[in-house]
Amino acid sequence: MNIENNYDLTYLVNDTERLVFEELGQVLEEEQYKGVCICQDCVIDMATLALNRLEPRYHASLLGTIYAQSAGNEQYTEKVREAVNFAVKKVSSNPAHS
Ligand SMILES: [Zn+2]
Repeated sequence: MNIENNYDLTYLVNDTERLVFEELGQVLEEEQYKGVCICQDCVIDMATLALNRLEPRYHASLLGTIYAQSAGNEQYTEKVREAVNFAVKKVSSNPAHS
């Protein structure tokens, strides 16, 4: 059975993605990261790196809503922050853009 062809997997939402995107957006506006490249390649690299350092937080969205109700606890928010800061530093010090 082919799961992807037979089921609507948009009901499956990874809260971590939204948390990382929000955090990344904020962090990139910080004074300390002024001058960091925010081209498509670099930002995608940052998001990828941060997401791969975090445990995913999936939930089944029965109404197909994009936003989750519970964003997660303080501890997890802190982990997201750490992962995003690590990713921005790492990518900006060694950008892969052409
Ligand atoms: Zn770049």
